[in-house]
Amino acid sequence: MECNFNYSELKTYSGYYIDKNKLKESASGGAATVISENIIKSGGCVFGIVYTDNFYEAEYYCAETLEELKKLKGSKYVETKKTITNDGKLCSVYDILENKLKLGKKVLYIGLGCDIGAVYKICENKNLDISNLYTIELICHGPTTKEVHSKYISELEEKFNSKIIDFTVKYKKVGWVPQYIHAEFENRKIYERPFAGSDYGVAFSIYTRKACFNCKFRADNHKADIVIGDYWGLQKDMPGYNEYGVSIMFVRNEKGDSLIKDIDDTIFSLQETSTKFALENNKMYYKCREKHQKYDAFEKNFKCKGLHYAVTYRDGFIKAVIRKIKNKLGR
Ligand SMILES: Cc1cc2nc3c(=O)[nH]c(=O)nc-3n(C[C@H](O)[C@H](O)[C@H](O)COP(=O)(O)OP(=O)(O)OC[C@H]3O[C@@H](n4cnc5c(N)ncnc54)[C@H](O)[C@@H]3O)c2cc1C
Ligand code: SF4
Repeated sequence: MECNFNYSELKTYSGYYIDKNKLKESASGGAATVISENIIKSGGCVFGIVYTDNFYEAEYYCAETLEELKKLKGSKYVETKKTITNDGKLCSVYDILENKLKLGKKVLYIGLGCDIGAVYKICENKNLDISNLYTIELICHGPTTKEVHSKYISELEEKFNSKIIDFTVKYKKVGWVPQYIHAEFENRKIYERPFAGSDYGVAFSIYTRKACFNCKFRADNHKADIVIGDYWGLQKDMPGYNEYGVSIMFVRNEKGDSLIKDIDDTIFSLQETSTKFALENNKMYYKCREKHQKYDAFEKNFKCKGLHYAVTYRDGFIKAVIRKIKNKLGR
């Protein structure tokens, strides 16, 4: 294996929600949600990501009830604001976190590697007691920019001449893979398209935040108690497989262990699995994504002519025409 860090201390689990509906609503196997539910049930609160009301942006939310927790489900593949909207007022997520910790609340904070790095830095700078703080990091390929996301939403709304009332990029239309985009509009129309072929999917694969090419939060520099993602590499005939998605969980310390021990195996099918195999199939745990060769051209086209143009002409004019003809012929 090309990963050359010491992973012998990691304990690795896989799992999925036994309830099919709960599993289908989750981004992977639902590990983030099952752990979050336990925190809420023990009187704690969970910080995670939601889309804003109009779906143009994503930001933090602090869930205190199981009902509120449902809002966090699903992956938002866009860079997020470090704010929480309370009664129409924007507050810093870090101020709200500080309040909760000072109240002695049990807190679970879920974020990308850099989010969790920032949380620990802030807690250290403010000298906060973090004994009640638990953290989960998502394995991170790097989100696309907020400009791409908002442009995609506005182009869809224009196309359907209606406002979006629901949106997800990891919809399990036929199963875990291929993932679909699913959007619902006020006029009751529904848009569904395989993510990989969509303008959003293409932008996600080419165009991320520049900082992500030098992400520090990899290999042995993850900061969270548990790092979770999709259990890529798991095949249909292997133990622990579920066609609607399986989570991988890399447990880094005792706090992480305690979160895993609290999982009720009558609602979430949990098993220990091979760290080596899981890492071999999920390079984003230890490797940074590289800058795409089409990045600069894509950025230029996106800024001058919009998202759809940048996606259509990502390989140049001739390939764009051939792709259009193939699409018309249904190939
Ligand atoms: C930008 C991005 C890139 C990713 N890249 C990979 C990858 O390369 N390989 C891989 O295996 N997994 C990747 N993931 C993680 C994967 O898509 C799932 O989010 C993860 O496995 C959790 O699934 P779940 O079923 O446990 O989540 P659910 O139970 O559905 O809950 C989702 C949780 O994710 C949190 N969340 C959603 N979007 C964000 C966000 N943008 N920032 C911070 N927290 C968020 C929510 O707050 C919620 O707690 C990525 C996720 C994101 C957001
Ligand atoms: S790739 Fe790294 S820097 Fe980029 S969003 Fe993910 S954790 Fe943050």
